[in-house]
Amino acid sequence: MRFDGRIAIVTGGARGMGASHARALAAEGARVVICDLLDDEGEALAQELPAARYRHLDVTDEQSWSSVVRETEDAFGAVDVLINNAGIVHFGGVEALSPAHFRQMIEVNLVGAFIGMHTVLPGMRGRGRGSIVNISSAAGLTGFAGGVGYVASKWGVRGMTKAAALDMAGTGVRVNSVHPGVIRTPMGDSASPELFARQPIPRIGEPEEVTRMVLFLASDDASYTTGGEFLIDGGQTI
Ligand code: NAD
Repeated sequence: MRFDGRIAIVTGGARGMGASHARALAAEGARVVICDLLDDEGEALAQELPAARYRHLDVTDEQSWSSVVRETEDAFGAVDVLINNAGIVHFGGVEALSPAHFRQMIEVNLVGAFIGMHTVLPGMRGRGRGSIVNISSAAGLTGFAGGVGYVASKWGVRGMTKAAALDMAGTGVRVNSVHPGVIRTPMGDSASPELFARQPIPRIGEPEEVTRMVLFLASDDASYTTGGEFLIDGGQTI
């Protein structure tokens, strides 16, 4: 199994795509730390999985990140895999979107992923191994009306990933971004079917279809891949 003995942290892991990534990592042998704000869902999922635990984590909170990483290292060992998946969306164009909602998306989607990398990278560098997968979006490669804050945050994740991959040059640590289109989750369900009806693959995507790419990048199968951006969008952005 690709993740036998490996330690993985998945943020936003209590539901949606994060839960799918956590399930698949556990099924392939990883010890998974599921982090989220949704304690009931997170605890329930952790109990279902072998060698998983749940930790409450607001990704915007630097001190909570330090505690989660320290506790993980004490309980399991150093972190091998970080999936920065937690995210939120508020729709609204430039005039309609409140600055507070714009800031909140930057804070959770972009700053949250930065703090996660900032906290785990020293351990990964020290061991000369690690893989970070940052979940951006098809909206991190294009724009859409009414998505000004979300698009800004997801382009940020994409750019930050490339800079981090360069910062980690020669260390054995890889950093890549994944760009899903419309996926069937509590967040994706709010999207209009018109969004995917015109795609070459004219249907909504399933969380497991994204998970397969995320696990590829997290694993040694992607040993020659860093700083890359990986679309799974049914052709939406062609
Ligand atoms: P979701 O809303 O089902 O799950 C997101 C999870 O993140 C939730 O469990 C939520 O509680 C958690 N979360 C939110 N804020 C948090 C915080 N501050 N700290 C910790 N956890 C927090 O959404 P999803 O569709 O599974 O989205 C997962 C990721 O994929 C997100 O980054 C999202 O932007 C991205 N994405 C989703 C789609 C889609 O169509 N569903 C498309 C492209 C990208």
